[in-house]
Amino acid sequence: MFQMTDDQRDIQNLAREFAEKEVAPIAAEIDVDGHFPQDTVDKLADLGFMGLCVPEEYGGVGLDSVAEALVVMELAKVCASTAVICSLHYMVSDIILEKGTEEQKENYLSRASEGKLGCFCLTEPGAGTDAGGLKTTAVKDGDSYILNGTKCFITNAGPEQGDHFVVFALTDPEKKTHGGITAFLVDRDNPGLSIGKTEDKLGIRASKTSEVILEDCRVSEDAILGEIGEGFKIAMWGLDGGRIGIAAQAAGIAQGALAEAVNYANERVQFGKPLSKNQGLQWYIADMATRTEAARLLVLEAAQKRADRDADAGCTAAMAKLFAGEAACYVTDLALQIHGGYGFIKEYPIERMYRDARITRIYEGTSEAQKMVISRAVLR
Ligand SMILES: Cc1cc2nc3c(=O)[nH]c(=O)nc-3n(C[C@H](O)[C@H](O)[C@H](O)COP(=O)(O)OP(=O)(O)OC[C@H]3O[C@@H](n4cnc5c(N)ncnc54)[C@H](O)[C@@H]3O)c2cc1C
Repeated sequence: MFQMTDDQRDIQNLAREFAEKEVAPIAAEIDVDGHFPQDTVDKLADLGFMGLCVPEEYGGVGLDSVAEALVVMELAKVCASTAVICSLHYMVSDIILEKGTEEQKENYLSRASEGKLGCFCLTEPGAGTDAGGLKTTAVKDGDSYILNGTKCFITNAGPEQGDHFVVFALTDPEKKTHGGITAFLVDRDNPGLSIGKTEDKLGIRASKTSEVILEDCRVSEDAILGEIGEGFKIAMWGLDGGRIGIAAQAAGIAQGALAEAVNYANERVQFGKPLSKNQGLQWYIADMATRTEAARLLVLEAAQKRADRDADAGCTAAMAKLFAGEAACYVTDLALQIHGGYGFIKEYPIERMYRDARITRIYEGTSEAQKMVISRAVLR
């Protein structure tokens, strides 16, 4: 059973205070115009939140996956966009910390801790759930590799965001996922890397989601992350952690929506009494609270297993992502229902939460993909 330490409680309180004071007041505004919250990212970096798991020697604060999950949850309660910006950034730093050379860690993790955003570039137009079907190539040329291909839906890769990119490419097309894919670290200022279309989205509108185009993008051998041919394993290991971040985002959205629904049900009077006096709505609240709490606990259990390097960590992360994503959609839907017509208009935050929740069942592996991961582990 998960027990929070004093350090974890402190970081949770600090994140909650920051979210309420700095993020909640601008969440609606940045959603409407899709404005990337650069000031917020800078403030998060000043407080150490952009290098949470990065060891102190590289400029971070040296905490673990549980701290990351707690911070993402607190941010997501008030703004799912800000939460995903951090979640993806944490995932990239975690991969570099796990697989990077000393030089790569010194360079990229110190930049990450300063708030320079990391991007995870796996998905391609023809390779989503079937990520191993990627077509981007990396061809050896002397001491360099030349990358060509297009990545799509890349979080944090906006026209003005994204500092370093972990790019997965085929180094041996014959071997594919069995040793044919390699991970590379590519800098934003590489002339062969450019940002294509930035997507206009249903939710998480203040986070940027863009195409990353690699055109004769030359990198040195020093840009290889991990071993040649280890890329697919690195991507899957990274996603095991990233899924905890998205599950935390989903659990946070559910917590935020539940709080909105409770307030509204206590305040709104119909038939001469608050809505919350109706048993039908009380049962909604009970179901919402139960799923929200179960999601929160599963997220923390998965994060603790990841920190402990438990052999089941990947499966629990997939369960957390599956359950929390479905819970976020269920809870936001009922929270909107409790708001009646007012839930459908933009003046109330539930309208945004309802839209934001939907992506948590899709990215970093759809709910269906999580079921593949879980059943494979359980049947083994
Ligand atoms: C806002 C946003 C941000 C994102 N950020 C990133 C990022 O930072 N980096 C990155 O690399 N990617 C990112 N993605 C990509 C995301 O991870 C993919 O969209 C997701 O994995 C699904 O891939 P797809 O969209 O190609 O859907 P598809 O793979 O085409 O799937 C379509 C549907 O078919 C189902 N399906 C597919 N195969 C099977 C099967 N074998 N059995 C049962 N059902 C199946 C899926 O579950 C889904 O419901 C992002 C996407 C979005 C929308």
